[in-house]
Amino acid sequence: MVFDYDVDQDEQLTRLFWANQTAIMNYAAFGDVISFDVTYNTNRYKMVFAPFTGVDNHRMCVTFAAGLILKEDEESYTWLFRRFLDVVAKEPYYIVTDQDPAMKNAIKSVFKTAKHRLFMYDIRQSCIPAYFRDVPMSGLLKTTLLSESTNSWFGNFTNPQSNLVEFVMHFESAMESQRHSSDKLNNQCQTSLPDCQTPLKIEKHAFLVYTHAIFYEVSKEIKEACYHCSVIQINDNTNEISYTIKEESGVFQVTKCKIDASAKCSCKLFEQMRLLCRHIFVIFKDCDEIPAPYLEARWMKATSFNSHSKNGHMYQFPGGIEAARTLNTLWADFHSCIGLAQGDIEKLSSLSRIISNEKAKLLEEQHKTIVPSKQSVMETYCGSTSQLHISVLPPKQAKNKGSGSHLKSRLQAKEKNP
Ligand SMILES: [Zn+2]
Repeated sequence: MVFDYDVDQDEQLTRLFWANQTAIMNYAAFGDVISFDVTYNTNRYKMVFAPFTGVDNHRMCVTFAAGLILKEDEESYTWLFRRFLDVVAKEPYYIVTDQDPAMKNAIKSVFKTAKHRLFMYDIRQSCIPAYFRDVPMSGLLKTTLLSESTNSWFGNFTNPQSNLVEFVMHFESAMESQRHSSDKLNNQCQTSLPDCQTPLKIEKHAFLVYTHAIFYEVSKEIKEACYHCSVIQINDNTNEISYTIKEESGVFQVTKCKIDASAKCSCKLFEQMRLLCRHIFVIFKDCDEIPAPYLEARWMKATSFNSHSKNGHMYQFPGGIEAARTLNTLWADFHSCIGLAQGDIEKLSSLSRIISNEKAKLLEEQHKTIVPSKQSVMETYCGSTSQLHISVLPPKQAKNKGSGSHLKSRLQAKEKNP
């Protein structure tokens, strides 16, 4: 567990941030698009609860980190975003929030490359046309509609009268429930047989590599390519072949490069979702496998983490934030390597040999280490190091925007009173 806090001049708690190892590993794999929303009345001090959420390879919500803040001002948000970035080490492509000016300014000052987008609700209100089409990974922004309900889901686990210890325990229960759902889906992906729509090898390959949720989406595209799309024109140019493909909803242009066999489609599904569209499958359907450049690690089965039952969520970071950052970079590199080597047996074998060698070295070193002290065993169990002197007092009760109402996220409040 990594955590950080801030106090006022009276040594009373004003801000708290925390993230655990499973969540940080999930961020390395699924932290391309994150949503950030606040919820009121989750504790007796009326500190605002602010989780960082994303979408995993089953298209389910996954929590990366969370904070509690006494004031909803730019300074508090800046503090929270800085702690978050310190731990996860890499910026997301997108941060999705509501239209809060303090939040907006804080994002601007902390994140240098991430793009800020508004929740679907705010977009609907602003009526921004064709908002998503040309933006990479923008399809995932739509999925964050799902996470608009995440905060109210946390509500099932919280109680407005909780003190901070009780609150953190409730939060851990919510995380445990999230992990349990994810483990169940991971196990289903490993044990069930495909329900293919076509006899094509490429569809079987899709089943092998993608999680079920994603496989069914891809399978639908392959089926549409086979039964509802037709090539109405082919133009053979110098470096590329251009196909005009007709389906019920219109006409699309697919261009296939003669040099590297890559393909692009005018519908831009791949750019938006990193999943191939039916029009490209018209050209690729006779391939045995989905070509490696089109396999996105974030949708693959191999990217799942089964939380190990014994304290799977309570690892310690002996090196603090620096260790957490390094670990996050390592997971991100690991996923990239798997993605790049996918489908190439030589590259996979070479990668496997390198990892096996490193594992053998680490195991040998582990055998040489001395028996840990009773305190370090306890600290590992608790997931944090013990403090000799603690001088933080409980927070003052806040007067924030959601005070006095029942538990609700700001988005829910807004839907009632836009
Ligand atoms: Zn297309």
